[in-house]
Amino acid sequence: MQDLLQQTLSGSAPAMTSGTLPNLRWQWLDEGILELTPLAPTQQAIAISAGIHGNETAPVEILNALITRLLQGEMLLAARLLVLYGNPPALRAGKRYLRCDLNRLFGGRWQQFENCPEAQRALRLEQALETFWQVGTHQETRWHLDLHTAIRGSYHTRFGVMPFSQRPWPDDFMQWLAAAGLEALVFHRAPGGTFTHYSSEHFQAASCTLELGKALPFGHNDLTQFQAAQQALAALISGEPLPSTGKTPRRYRVTQQITRNSERFQLHMSPETLNFTAFPQGMLLAEDGETRYFVQQAREYVLFPNPNVAPGLRAGLMLVEDNAHNAALSVDAAEPLQ
Ligand SMILES: [Zn+2]
Repeated sequence: MQDLLQQTLSGSAPAMTSGTLPNLRWQWLDEGILELTPLAPTQQAIAISAGIHGNETAPVEILNALITRLLQGEMLLAARLLVLYGNPPALRAGKRYLRCDLNRLFGGRWQQFENCPEAQRALRLEQALETFWQVGTHQETRWHLDLHTAIRGSYHTRFGVMPFSQRPWPDDFMQWLAAAGLEALVFHRAPGGTFTHYSSEHFQAASCTLELGKALPFGHNDLTQFQAAQQALAALISGEPLPSTGKTPRRYRVTQQITRNSERFQLHMSPETLNFTAFPQGMLLAEDGETRYFVQQAREYVLFPNPNVAPGLRAGLMLVEDNAHNAALSVDAAEPLQ
């Protein structure tokens, strides 16, 4: 195995599916799925996924560069590592997905979409996580980082979306997210069909969907804007101390979801609306026949507005700031948007 990304884009299985290096064992499990095991004992089992959306190529390139260094023996491996390139056919096509948005299908939701090629893949990815974490000991720390780029521009260039969970978030996980250069964290208040919700709910993993910039085609990404994330990933994988950013991400929580339920759905935002744009109380955000969505709190921020989703799916999330947390941040980090 020389290059997992090239192998995955070729659409063929590698000639050799496993091997041993001085410091690690690797095993190719399926298209875009590679397991790396350090020869020395470890208590960390980390899943890192990218390309769940096939047009979000920068994180795949970043992750692939790290995996290539591991496979060439240029970097130490300090944790058990499962690498997953989410949607290989969509990566080859340069599209977000072929028929169904893969990141809405996890937790068995794929069963309702069996005519989508993505349904089969969601099941395969769920199985890969299950096998990976089942073989480990109970003391193992489970983390899942799912790397994305956003479709649109954003007031926070890099941010993380945390799945709904009632467990406290581990301190070292939160410190890693800050070291990865995330400016904001968004906390879900309800379960969802995302890959990170699945790993959190089913395997009690500390998981986060990282949005690392704007989506561009392969080869067109300015990888320097992803440097903090890449360095933090390298430190995590090789057990080195984390780079320090000195900044704590601002926190937001989801206060309402805008759902497209019919063909009559209208979103009252311009197509250029940036993520984390603020709207004042009382403003009409969207309407869908009789249903109308208004800003309910004094100030709400929009995330992932997209009127062109399939009926029944999320057309946007509205957020409020976690004021108690953000007030405690340093003055420069706590400056409100707009
Ligand atoms: Zn994405």
